[in-house]
Amino acid sequence: MYTELEGKTVIITGASTGLGKAMALRFGQEKANVVINYHSKEENVKEIIQEIAQNGGRAISQKGDVSKEEDIKALIQSAHESFGSVDIWVNNAGIENEVPSEKMTLENWKEVIDVNLTGTFLGCREAINYMLDHKIKGKIINISSVHEQIPWPHFVHYATSKGGVKLMTETLALEFAPKGIRINNIAPGAIETPINAVKFADPESRAAVQDLIPIGYIGKPEEIASVAAWLASNESSYVTGTTIFADGGMTKYPSFQGGNG
Ligand code: NAD
Repeated sequence: MYTELEGKTVIITGASTGLGKAMALRFGQEKANVVINYHSKEENVKEIIQEIAQNGGRAISQKGDVSKEEDIKALIQSAHESFGSVDIWVNNAGIENEVPSEKMTLENWKEVIDVNLTGTFLGCREAINYMLDHKIKGKIINISSVHEQIPWPHFVHYATSKGGVKLMTETLALEFAPKGIRINNIAPGAIETPINAVKFADPESRAAVQDLIPIGYIGKPEEIASVAAWLASNESSYVTGTTIFADGGMTKYPSFQGGNG
C-alpha cells in the first residue's frame, strides 16, 4: 500500500472490465478517488463503485468514448467537479481485432488507431493541461502492450498503435519532466481479461499462448494493477519515459530457452 495515494484523484479509461477494472479496484484499496470512464458494460460499474466504497475509497463513473475530444473534456470536468483535482490519469481503453493486413479496410485501421493511439494522446494532452494549470506534479500511465515491441501479423493496426504509444510516452515524458509530470507505459503480456476471452476459451489457443510465457502462466489483471499503483506512487519517483514490461518474460525470446539458438 502507498499511503501517499490516499485522497489523490485518478482517472482510468475503459475501466468497466479487465485491466481497467482491476486498476480501479486497486486504487480504491489505496483510498484514492477513482473516476471510472466506461464505454460499455455499464452494468459492471455500479458493482465496482460499491466495492471501492467498501474499501474506504470514493468513486464515480463517466461514460465516454476516449477517441472523442468532447468526451475526454467531460471526463476531466467531472473529476474536477467531484473531487477538485486530477493527480493520476491512466490511459487504458483499447481494442483489437484480427484482420490480415492485405484485407484491412481503412475503417478497420481507423477504428483501432482512433481508440488506442488518438484516445491515449487526447487523454495525455488533457491531463497535462490540467496538471500544468493547477501546478500538479501528476503521473500519467499509458497501457501499451508487448506489441509496442513484438511485431504482430494480422494485427498491424494494433501493433502500430502500441508502438506509437511507446514513442508518445517517451516524447511527452521528456517534454514535461521539467514540470514534474511523470509519464510511463505499462506493457502487459498475455493477461486473463475479456479482450482474450474467446482465444483463451479454446484450450489449443490458450496452450499456444502459454508456451510463449517463460514464467509459465497467463497473467492476472491484479498483476498489472500493482505496477500501476507503484508507478503512481512516490516509490517510482525517478522513473519517467519508460515502459515497464509485465509479461512473464514474453519479450525475452522464449524460443531461446534451454540453450536453443
Ligand atoms: P478489455 O476489453 O477488458 O478492456 C478494454 C476496455 O476498453 C473495455 O472496458 C472497453 O469497453 C473499453 N473501450 C473500448 N473502446 C473504448 C472507447 N472508445 N472509449 C472508452 N473505452 C473504450 O481488455 P483489457 O485486456 O483489460 O485491455 C485493457 C488495455 O490493456 C488495452 O489497451 C489493451 O490493448 C491492453 N493490453 C491488454 C493485454 C491483455 O492480454 N489483456 C495485453 C496487452 C495490452
